[in-house]
Amino acid sequence: MQSDSALRLVWIYPDLLSTYGDQGNVLVLEQRAQRRGIPVETVHVRSADPVPESGDIYLIGGGEDRPQILASERLRRDGGLHRAIQRGAALLAVCAGYQIMGTTFGGEEGQPVDGIGLIDISSGRGQGRAVGELAGEADPALGIPTLTGFENHMGVTRLGAGIRPLARTAVGVGNGDGTEGCYTGKIVGTYLHGPALARNPGLADLLLTWAVGAQLPPIDDAWFDRLREERLAAVLPH
Ligand code: GLN
Repeated sequence: MQSDSALRLVWIYPDLLSTYGDQGNVLVLEQRAQRRGIPVETVHVRSADPVPESGDIYLIGGGEDRPQILASERLRRDGGLHRAIQRGAALLAVCAGYQIMGTTFGGEEGQPVDGIGLIDISSGRGQGRAVGELAGEADPALGIPTLTGFENHMGVTRLGAGIRPLARTAVGVGNGDGTEGCYTGKIVGTYLHGPALARNPGLADLLLTWAVGAQLPPIDDAWFDRLREERLAAVLPH
């Protein structure tokens, strides 16, 4: 981000991938940036339109199989997200959006569908649908609290060498191998659905820090901390 300009958020394809209240992630980033005095400009990019390359943080959400396949085709053809990431932009990709970032994912009948190949992950179909609470300790290198949220997907995801899991799964399925999500460079992928940043402000601040290139003043997150403790007490095996 250039120091004299606004932080640019780009929400990709809300017309295709916004099934789970994904706009919440955009709102949380806007709020947490503005509370630090950082001006924000947000662009909603519909799937008929080109993805601008000048964003600082890109967001893509979750959705059903057909819109996911369409989104993957259009993003691959467009190429704007690839170029933005090469420029150093950050990305939060949730569920269907997460799977799209890889080389392949499972279609409606489990058939392999091409992803956009932005990162070295691949997804297929699990035995059943993973629906319910998802929680786990974030990679200690990220310095953020335990992640909590909700998942609803069929996909299982394998991470290639050099791609680190976002968290170790304590409750729920996540990637399907005891890990949840991934991160590499300034990219975060996660099965934490919808407005995951509203439950996990530490993850929001991680993206903002990457985009701004500096530490941010803390915000009083006591309510979020209480919510996390409550949820963990409710869902962790006793
Ligand atoms: N269609 C994908 C799956 O079932 C993604 C679902 C979603 O985004 N919730 O795995």
